[in-house]
Amino acid sequence: MIIEPLYEATEAIINELLARWRSTPKRYPFNRPDAIIPQKIIPDWLRENKQIFANWYVAVCLHMKGRITSLDAFRGHIRVAEKYPEFYIPRIVRWHSDDTLIKILTECRLTSDHRNVIRDWRMNTMHLDTYYHGNAINLLKGLTSWEEAIRRIKNKRTKKERKEAGYAGEGLNGFQEKMVSMLLYFFDWEGWLDPRFPYPSPSDIQNIRAAIAGGALRIIDPDSTRRHDFFTAPWREMVLRYIRERNENPIDVADVLWLFGNLMCGNSPLTETRIDEGINGSGLFDEENLPHHLGVEKFLHPAYRRRLEETCLVCPFRKFCHLVIPAQPYYKKGIVDLRRRIKMEEHIDISQLSEPVYFDKAPNLEFKFS
Ligand code: SF4
Repeated sequence: MIIEPLYEATEAIINELLARWRSTPKRYPFNRPDAIIPQKIIPDWLRENKQIFANWYVAVCLHMKGRITSLDAFRGHIRVAEKYPEFYIPRIVRWHSDDTLIKILTECRLTSDHRNVIRDWRMNTMHLDTYYHGNAINLLKGLTSWEEAIRRIKNKRTKKERKEAGYAGEGLNGFQEKMVSMLLYFFDWEGWLDPRFPYPSPSDIQNIRAAIAGGALRIIDPDSTRRHDFFTAPWREMVLRYIRERNENPIDVADVLWLFGNLMCGNSPLTETRIDEGINGSGLFDEENLPHHLGVEKFLHPAYRRRLEETCLVCPFRKFCHLVIPAQPYYKKGIVDLRRRIKMEEHIDISQLSEPVYFDKAPNLEFKFS
């Protein structure tokens, strides 16, 4: 598989999405009632104790490794903070056993590899306690660039990397570039980043979907892989270049990319994985060679029509979108599985179709956490 990054296409994708986001009223898909930025479900009481809240964000990031949706990670950690706020206080949490902490995560319905999360969380709380007075907000003191954020926060795995990073540069366990940008984005969103500086959007499945669909990452000989960095690294660089060259707001760029992938590709029936997939051949054969592959015929069924009309059939990138990334292999096994997109617009008459307008009266509802 060869991946070719194309900066002009990156510009076109982000320009298009930002124009939709900034128009009044917001244009599709950003006017859908489910266009919810996860931070909007955070209850007010959680923002009262800044130390707990900043550390809470670090813990949430540890759950954002692709096996759980952002909203579920937020909801789970809101439950933890409500019942066990000490989970986010380094000096207290360190005295709890692993089993107790795992019990807390399980009780609060967080799904993840709990043992790994707890190991990382334990190391991170020690790190915060040692260098930052137990308060993640101190990570931002004197921080003025993406490069310094990487030096401070990215986990250094080798002795050489640690030596180069210098004092306190071993970083936070489990934090690679994606997580560093995610933490900066959350802190920036809360208004804590002062001064603000350019940083890339968290390069996750939703970002990759937009990048591949819009042709910013041209893929030759697509294949399945667990190596997310094949896609995320070049995409991150192009987004950072875009933000720097245009002096763009990193929050807006992160929001539109995440929402687009989530609302459009994520809701498209073409990114669904059928339950029976994987039984035949376990990935040894191409999808179209499997006997249960129904392709076009399947998606012409009226059951899929509405979702297709809300996603691929009205998508601004459908001309360029040849590959889709289904959610299930990504969330369950961490696999980026590139599948040929069935061009349903070639089989359905879309000449009369326009972007859904029935959401216009209720743009961006904020769902309260329940
Ligand atoms: S055409 Fe469908 S799969 Fe492709 S980017 Fe648009 S919504 Fe996503």
